[in-house]
Amino acid sequence: MPDHPHDRLPLTGKATLPADHALDAGSAAQPHGDAAAGRRRFLRAGAASPALLAALGGGAGGLALATASRPARAALATSAHVVIAGSGAGGLAIANRLSHELQGAKITVVDRKEEHNYQPGYTLVATGIWPVAKVSDRNADFLPAGVEWVREMVVEFDPDANTVTTDAGTKIRYDFLVVATGLHLDYAGIEGMDPKAIGTNGVGSVYNGPAGALATWRTMDAFRNKGGEALMTLPATPLKCAGAPLKMTFMLAERLRQAGTSDRSKVSFHSALGNVFGVPVVNETVLQRWKALDVGVEFNSRLTAIDIGARRATFSSPEGEKTELGYDFIHVVPPMRATDAVRGSALAWREGGFAAGGWLEVDKSTLRHRRYPNVFGIGDINGTPRGKTAATVKKSAPIVAGNLVDVIAQREPSLDFDGYTSCPLLLRQGAALLIEFDYEGRLTPSLPMVDPLQESWFAWLMKFALLKPAYVAVLKGHV
Ligand SMILES: Cc1cc2nc3c(=O)[nH]c(=O)nc-3n(C[C@H](O)[C@H](O)[C@H](O)COP(=O)(O)OP(=O)(O)OC[C@H]3O[C@@H](n4cnc5c(N)ncnc54)[C@H](O)[C@@H]3O)c2cc1C
Repeated sequence: MPDHPHDRLPLTGKATLPADHALDAGSAAQPHGDAAAGRRRFLRAGAASPALLAALGGGAGGLALATASRPARAALATSAHVVIAGSGAGGLAIANRLSHELQGAKITVVDRKEEHNYQPGYTLVATGIWPVAKVSDRNADFLPAGVEWVREMVVEFDPDANTVTTDAGTKIRYDFLVVATGLHLDYAGIEGMDPKAIGTNGVGSVYNGPAGALATWRTMDAFRNKGGEALMTLPATPLKCAGAPLKMTFMLAERLRQAGTSDRSKVSFHSALGNVFGVPVVNETVLQRWKALDVGVEFNSRLTAIDIGARRATFSSPEGEKTELGYDFIHVVPPMRATDAVRGSALAWREGGFAAGGWLEVDKSTLRHRRYPNVFGIGDINGTPRGKTAATVKKSAPIVAGNLVDVIAQREPSLDFDGYTSCPLLLRQGAALLIEFDYEGRLTPSLPMVDPLQESWFAWLMKFALLKPAYVAVLKGHV
């Protein structure tokens, strides 16, 4: 079985758009319906021209939209030591920005991970659209010169002593700290779930790294050829890319349709919540579309246990009532929480809605720690409403870096973050919804030719071909 089906899964009898030719619109997968009209509008407007793409910011799309509006200013001379815990999207973006915005500072990045994964590409791998090689790069290629890289993991944050301690026993003293550890996928929170089983016995899970995404596609591919019962799940915790479980559902329905096995299949989405997406108008749109696709939805139904060998899953209601269901394919979305080092430290929220997950206690506007003024947070670890996407990192990195420079210069933070979150919601090959919103759940569309609630070929093109270059530009601190 090939790792990716570019050669054999044309949606409409035409060749699927290869990534390297993504801007050659003539070779693209053929969209239909609203997406086709959107594509015509986009092309008529000359929107695929290099000039427009350049204007979108070194790539395009949700990741490359508006940045904080601060005029460029001279680097601040300082001898401060800044430690950045984590070298994912947020950590690298901050390291690159600070290396330009500070002169004379010592910057230390702490993270053992050598490989850099483009996580927004996992849904494309897990649904058979991208080869897995496209989501793996090397962190070393993105770290700026002059930054110290400690290849160890932080096991203890002591913000009262201004130190972090690593799993190798190294104690590092800092003047300023940026917490960028991402989050923890809590597969252990589902009884019987073993992430190593992804790819076996009908178990898929897009979240568990590149290998997990590829194994998920192999499982989905085997399932779609036969059809049967599919269970899609959504936990009750905050999620990174809360749209990913929905994308997996739309694409599963599409793969069944392509294989001609829809009529012998049943797809049911079990949400642990009373909705499937936290922005009401998007929730409604998704539910309407699933109704048309015959995707059933169960609310307040949380995956609590799985018997992988027997292919049986147990769902619990808020009242504790249990329902056991058999399946041929299950998409497991793990509960998510803060990484252990943050959760067990004085940096975590102590009360309120973010305390249970141990999320970082930052002010949602300045992204500065609410109790430790020399500490900032970026990315998935932040205990803020919404905002766990790479697009959030893109929009907030200039704010975190700018506010940190203010604090180093003994000024008050001057930039505010609005919670920008973005999610190109895949509907099928050639069509997506580009959903952008803020902390309040208000839609904040930023491309005039894309209506967030109408399927769009351009939103698909962004997800398929334009967002990875934009993401790399974010890591490098260019946008
Ligand atoms: C399936 C999926 C689909 C997605 N789709 C999209 C999308 O379409 N659009 C979008 O914008 N975003 C999407 N995202 C979300 C996006 O990838 C994340 O929001 C983004 O990567 C968060 O960046 P981060 O730096 O906070 O965390 P990460 O990029 O996860 O990096 C965290 C880093 O911290 C390190 N670390 C962890 N613990 C420690 C420790 N104790 N000490 C030191 N280092 C530590 C890790 O090794 C890692 O390198 C998706 C994510 C997934 C999984």
